[in-house]
Parts: sequence; C-alpha cells; structure tokens
Amino acid sequence: AERWTEVPLAPPDAIFQLTAAFKADTHPNKVNLGVGAYRDDNSKPWVLPVVKKAKEILAHDPNMDHEYLPITGLPEYTSAAARLVFGSDSPVITEERVTSVQTISGTGANHLGALFLSKFYHWNDKRVYVSDPTWVNHHQIFPLVGIPVSTYPYYDPQTIGLAFPAFLEALKKAAPRSVFLLHACAHNPTGVDPTREQWGQIADVMLEKGHYAFFDSAYQGFASGNLDNDAWAVREFVRRDVPLLVCQSFAKNAGLYGERIGALHVVSPSKEAATRIKSQLSVLARSEISNPPAHGARLVSLILNDPELFEEWKRDIKTMSGRIIEMRKELHRLLTEELKTPGNWDHIVNQIGMFSFTGISPTQSKALVEKAHIYLTSNGRISMAGLNSHNIRYFAESLDKAVR
Ligand code: PMP
Repeated sequence: AERWTEVPLAPPDAIFQLTAAFKADTHPNKVNLGVGAYRDDNSKPWVLPVVKKAKEILAHDPNMDHEYLPITGLPEYTSAAARLVFGSDSPVITEERVTSVQTISGTGANHLGALFLSKFYHWNDKRVYVSDPTWVNHHQIFPLVGIPVSTYPYYDPQTIGLAFPAFLEALKKAAPRSVFLLHACAHNPTGVDPTREQWGQIADVMLEKGHYAFFDSAYQGFASGNLDNDAWAVREFVRRDVPLLVCQSFAKNAGLYGERIGALHVVSPSKEAATRIKSQLSVLARSEISNPPAHGARLVSLILNDPELFEEWKRDIKTMSGRIIEMRKELHRLLTEELKTPGNWDHIVNQIGMFSFTGISPTQSKALVEKAHIYLTSNGRISMAGLNSHNIRYFAESLDKAVR
C-alpha cells in the first residue's frame, strides 16, 4: 500500500498558529492583533446590517432554489461588481470590454487570473513581480500555476513608508511587458499606498514599458470609507489604457469572509477579445469549480442592484472604516501626546486599511506576545480592527514599554 513516505510535513500557517496561541492564552487582557477580519468595539465579528436585510429578502423569496449558477457566475452579480470597480460610465463598461467571472473570493480571483496569464499571456519573461512585502499567499498562488515570483522594492523600513524611487527603478529595469501585481488600495501588510501623484508616475513607466497591471483589490471602500476613492488607482490606469486585470473580493467590505464571493475582471481592447477571453475563462473555471457558490453572489447582487440597499451598504462601510480610522487617531494620540513614546508615530495615521506596520523589530514583537499577551506577527504588523476602546490604552502602554 502507498505509505506516502515522501510527503514532507508542511510548515503550519503563521497566522493560524498565532490564532491558536491566542485562544490557548488565559490572560484576561489578551489582545489579538493578528486577525485579518473586522471586529466591532467589543472584539466581535460584525454582520453588516445591510447583509442581514439581504438575507431576509432571500429567505422570503418564493423563487429561490438551489440550482447551479452559470459557469462564470450570477450575471447580475458579475456585471454589478464590474460597475463597482470601474464606475458605471467607464468606457470598458459601456463598450463591453471587460470580462467578469465570479470567483471563490479574492483568493480565487488571484488564482484564476494567474492561471489565465500563465496560459495566455504573451510573455517576454515569465514571472510576476510582487511588492516586498506582500500578502503571503501571492508567493504560493503564482508558482502553483508555473509563474515564478520576483519582488520589487516597496516598503522602506527607514521611513516606514514607500520605497518609491527603488520601486520606479524596478519598473524601469524589468523586461518589457512584465507583469506587476499592484494592491489597488490599503496595501497588505504595510498599510502604505502610493499617493495619486506616485500612481501617475507608476502608470507612466508601465505604459512606456508595456507592463501589465495585475490589480488585487481586496479592500474597496473598507480603506477610506469611500468606494470611488478606493477604486481611484484602477480607474486611473484604465483611463490611461494600461493593460490590466482586477481581482475583487467582498470579504472585507461586505463582511462576507466565509461566503467566498469575489470576481476576476479582465479588461480587453475590444468587445470581441472580451468574448474570446470569457470562453477561455469558462473552460478554466469549469475544470476547477464547475459553477461558483450561489449564496454570496445573491447577497451582493441584491445589495449592489437595489439603490436603497446600496446606500445602506455605504453607511455600513463608513461604520467599519470610521472605527478603524478612529483607532489610528487614538493610538497616535496616546503614543505621541500622553505617553511620549520615543520615535515618530505619524505612520500610524498615514497608513490606511485593515493593517498597520508599526515599524517595531521582531524582538519587540516577540516581547509584546510574551510579556503583554498581545498577539501580532513578527514583522510588526497589527490589525487595526483588533483594537477597540477597551484595549487600546493597554496596547499603547505595552507598545511604549516594548520600545523603550
Ligand atoms: N488579496 C489581499 C491583498 C488580501 O489581503 C486578501 C485577504 N487577506 C485577499 C487577496 C483575499 O482574501 P479572500 O480570498 O478572503 O477574499
């Protein structure tokens, strides 16, 4: 019988390990800053009120059944999702130049986008450039489909900000028509985004070199509280005609983590090309999932297509992003004004989205875990959503001690 003796034990997932350690900890003041999910002021998961309403509507819909969706997903979901990213009056929408396919959340969109490029992109140098650092899963998704990963400089530990000149240099040095993965907004894990002016310069070089932009958009609306604002970079690249695709997730902005609802949007130069691309994406989706799951698609479709629910969703998004922005301000105030913690902490309020790179060392991170029962990854990344009015002072004081 097969004994699988050649199968090595894979290392456990770092975040999973952190969560397990947090759960096992019995200290009353323990804080989990590892989670990549929104928490309310009482550290509880938050079901968006608009999602509750949409669920009610679905529950009472007499026409609801459990049939298969089309291979590329619920059409009224994918088209509304495309309008949300690009804007309803975008030429890619009005000229029907975007191919949209429902995916297993943002992860599935990244995977399908990578698989599509792997098979069909006109490569010069088959690799994807990802930011250093990036969402760890990017390092696994691309090699799995035969695309090696290289990194471009992104984060500068000296300034706890963007390593912009080095980033531009990497864009210029890469072979023509290289693929660059860009975080559409709220960069994970650093919370550091380019300014609009910098995005413009990035687009200039990408156009000059004929590079392809692989946009990962996991936080639209969740970052600034404004859906259009957080889609600015994608829309600006579309306006300038940079070739691109977008991976979209509704995990964060709709709190639908477990529903696995996302989409891949590939922009083409013509409607005719978009049709051919759709046929190939259908083939790929067919062999991997046959048909995507229906529930999340129905919920998001209701929210995006009903003007009242859409307005309510925007308010819910403001609730989440607003609380996170408040936590940034309060943490900054505590460190700089009350505790007079050594160092500059302006990056806490300048960074955006779920995460903040605190700039503390692995040793200091470890001290926070071991001495203060505050759980964070060793790179010093904290989830702002893990902070609330009950634990923020304890965190600020512990951070203050750790860096002194
Ligand atoms: N990309 C980035 C940058 C992310 O941070 C995440 C969520 N951690 C994802 C993609 C995908 O998440 P999901 O599959 O849950 O939508």
